Amino acid sequence: MGAIAAGLQACHTRIEAACRMAGRRPGEVGLLAVSKTFPAAAVREAWQAGQRAFGESYLQEAVAKLGELEGLPLDWHFIGPIQSNKTRPIAELFQWVHSIDRLKLAERLSAARPESLPSLNVLIQVNVGGEASKRGVAPDEALPLARAVMQLPRLRCRGFMTIPRPADDPMDERGQFAALRQIYEAARAAGLEVDTLSMGTSDDLEAAILEGATLVRIGTAIFGKRAPTEI
Ligand SMILES: *Cc1c(COP(=O)(O)O)cnc(C)c1O
Repeated sequence: MGAIAAGLQACHTRIEAACRMAGRRPGEVGLLAVSKTFPAAAVREAWQAGQRAFGESYLQEAVAKLGELEGLPLDWHFIGPIQSNKTRPIAELFQWVHSIDRLKLAERLSAARPESLPSLNVLIQVNVGGEASKRGVAPDEALPLARAVMQLPRLRCRGFMTIPRPADDPMDERGQFAALRQIYEAARAAGLEVDTLSMGTSDDLEAAILEGATLVRIGTAIFGKRAPTEI
């Protein structure tokens, strides 16, 4: 077995163990393979090992990679920051966007989403750690933004995403993940049809699954360490 297939298998094992610990069914948690900085060949190898959903953060890199992989039946998720003037290629090439942090961005994606494609699935990014350096709306703005995005014709708001403030012990991030889950539950209680909580990465997927993640975003544990030039 190649290193990428082994990495994927190890991730599935960790997800299953975390689900058992949380009293959840493993099928409740999806795995997004974050392929940023890795070449198309690495994505192809993961696809051959059964992986279907991939995440990218840098638009230029993603456009080139998706072009190389055209024809492969993959689901592409954009998970990085988005400039408002770069929405068109994202609306045309991706099935999901995890990084909605302002209405204007959502409006532009909706306007640019081709009629020939199904609605673009989007998540509201929430800054649960309150770090000035992190993207995402403040927790109390998440529900109002989700409501507004729900009104846009070509988007489907599926839930929420967060990148927490890192802790030395990943289990110390549970409070931040719980804060995102509370927003999600408040949205459901208010009648919003959301079904996705995107939280947890290579270092902290267990803590995220214990707090209700439905989609974990894993790069390093599948593809290996990224080059240090990476932002
Ligand atoms: C890079 C990235 C990941 C993957 O992180 P790893 O620690 O490599 O698993 C997850 N989410 C986002 C938003 C990222 O940019």
